[in-house]
Amino acid sequence: MTTTHTTPYRVSTRELGRQAGSSRRLRVVAPAPAELVVGLVVVPQQPDLELDVLLEAVTEGILARISALVPAAAECARCLASVALQVPVDARELFVYPGADRADEELPVVDVDHVDLEPVVRDAIGLALPLAPLCRPDCGGLCPRCGARLDDDPGHAHDDFDPRWEALTALLADGGAAEAAPDVPPAAPHVLRDIPDAAPDRPTRVPPAAPAAAQPAVVDPSPRSTEE
Ligand SMILES: [Zn+2]
Ligand SMILES: [Zn+2]
Repeated sequence: MTTTHTTPYRVSTRELGRQAGSSRRLRVVAPAPAELVVGLVVVPQQPDLELDVLLEAVTEGILARISALVPAAAECARCLASVALQVPVDARELFVYPGADRADEELPVVDVDHVDLEPVVRDAIGLALPLAPLCRPDCGGLCPRCGARLDDDPGHAHDDFDPRWEALTALLADGGAAEAAPDVPPAAPHVLRDIPDAAPDRPTRVPPAAPAAAQPAVVDPSPRSTEE
């Protein structure tokens, strides 16, 4: 088993020794590094991660290879549904001996016969988490008009024609409305009457300047009113 100092990630290398070529495999069980969140994916600290660790002594230090299957919770990038992930993580890091040739390469250092695997594990998990997790590879996402989750409603569709606009649509298409005659007549005559009612007021105020010639043309649709 592992010798733990402050955290389970701090692993003793004493049994491994320093003879290049020797190796030791061990299992580290530890809470996931704290606050590990990448985009839509969160790695909870529990349950504990089970890390398969292989330590190998090399000339300049100790090479650690770590693999684990990391449980993570995510939201689907398309439909926002909750997704439980099992993310395979593999990491490899060289811990150098203090004073070794490569000790100035900003590599982690073997510290009093221990190596701290946590930063390595944290970085490796961060890189392994998917940036755009999906609940399934061909998730249909959300309806852009109403936000419904399309996978829950495969036949989801919207009529392009909104019944609330029916009357207006009929008016705009007035000229060709003949075919729609059964529905349209009640609405159309109303509007045609409104226009003549308003229009006759104007000619009466402007009679001196405007000769009768131009104005009547505007009121054309309703001949009776122009003859007043
Ligand atoms: Zn989805
Ligand atoms: Zn919709």
